[in-house]
Formats: sequence, C-alpha cells, structure tokens
Amino acid sequence: MVWKISDETAFDTLGEEVRLTINGIPIRAPQNQSLLVTARANGFEIPTLCYHRDLPSEGQCRLCVVEIGEHPHTQIVNSCTYPTSPGLVVQTHSEKVMQARRIVLELLLARTPKAKLIQELAAAHGVYESRFKTDDPEELCILCGLCVRTCREVVGVSAISMKGRTPDKQVATPFLEKSPACIGCGSCAFICPTNVIPYTEKNGVRTIWGRDFELQACTVCGNYIEPKYQLEHWAKITGDPVETFFVCKDCR
Ligand code: SF4
Repeated sequence: MVWKISDETAFDTLGEEVRLTINGIPIRAPQNQSLLVTARANGFEIPTLCYHRDLPSEGQCRLCVVEIGEHPHTQIVNSCTYPTSPGLVVQTHSEKVMQARRIVLELLLARTPKAKLIQELAAAHGVYESRFKTDDPEELCILCGLCVRTCREVVGVSAISMKGRTPDKQVATPFLEKSPACIGCGSCAFICPTNVIPYTEKNGVRTIWGRDFELQACTVCGNYIEPKYQLEHWAKITGDPVETFFVCKDCR
C-alpha cells in the first residue's frame, strides 16, 4: 500500500468563464484553467507523460504541446501549463503539433529505448526509431519528475530531486546517498510511469532508494501495514498518537 493521492485536489486557480476555440469548435471554460484540462474535458485527447491531476504542472515532457493563435502568428506551447483566455484559438493536432510531439518521442526513444511505454507512444505517433544518440541502452527513467513532485508535494518530505544537466540529469537522493528524509512510503515508485524505481517488500522489510524500512505489523491481525517511519510521519502531520496507525484498515 502506498500513499493515497486525493482525487479532489486542484491546482488551477480558476476565474470567470471564457470562450475559446479548440480545433475550430467553440468551447466555454473557466479562465486560467490549463488548456490540457480544458481540451480533455471537451473530448480532445492530448498525450502526456509528466502530467498528473493531483500535482502542479511543470511542463517537463513537452508531449502535451498544442498550437495557439492564428496563421501566421501561431506558437507552440505546453498545454499543461498554458491557461485559457478569451478568444484563444487552439489546435491540438495540427501538423506543427504532431511534428513537435514526434521530435519529443524521438528524443525519449533515444534516451530510454527499452521503455515499453515510450515504444508504444512513439509507435502510436509513427515513430519507430530515433535519429538521436543513445547514451545508456538500459536507461528507463524518462525524467518526467513525477516521483520528485509526488515526494515533495504529496508526501511532503523532498527526499529525492532532479540532479545534474542533460545528458547526465537524473533523479537521485542527496549526494547519491541514503536519504535520511525518506520515509519509505513508496509513492515515488507507485507513480513512476516506467517502473524504474526499485521497490521490494520481503519478510517485513520494504527496500527503496537503498534503504531498508521495517514494516509495522497490525496489532490486531499481524499483517504488515507500512514502514514505522511513515506511520510516525502520519502521526506528526495529524497530531494523533502514532499507535493510532498500528491497526490496519481491515481491522479498524
Ligand atoms: S519512498 Fe521516499 S523518496 Fe519515495 S516518495 Fe516516499 S519519502 Fe519520497
């Protein structure tokens, strides 16, 4: 079991209703809602890798690009971070957009040639090989940053971060050592779209980011619940005694 992300959390600060067009169709949407959310709410599918509805958008993957404006004054923007505004003209699948997405997918295919998710997304866009150089054929991390943002924004401990610059950029613990801030909740591994974060559970011990976390057993049924560090973290956040969390949800 990992940290539960709320379905209700919203990060957009919405304003009054505005009118815009998406793919030539008139749309009404709250001002400042992202174009991605607006397009999807109106049935226009836009691919994403780094977007999650419960996290602030950062526009890392650039797969969600759309074209805004009218010919010849158009520009490509990240739909996950670009807000709606009155009269905006948006194209989600123009040739310019599809070309930009294919380049992003070629870059990702070069970075993570064995990542199934990327292979499938690339193939869906007609991309089967990449012109770009592969540094590590075994690499699976697409640098979407979902794990880093989940740890920071949802769990609230910032045990991992994005380090270095391309091509050596990576998600890592501070100084590549065992992070004392990590509570072993596993949320980062759970949210990773390419399952690249090693996570195991054996004999009452969860191992993640090189650290072993002893799991607390339920005081009623004896089944393992979560790492003791995680329960202590919950106790700190809620102000409840840590023993409150020593009973699993089935026994409550
Ligand atoms: S397991 Fe550690 S690094 Fe991963 S989200 Fe939880 S606290 Fe953060």
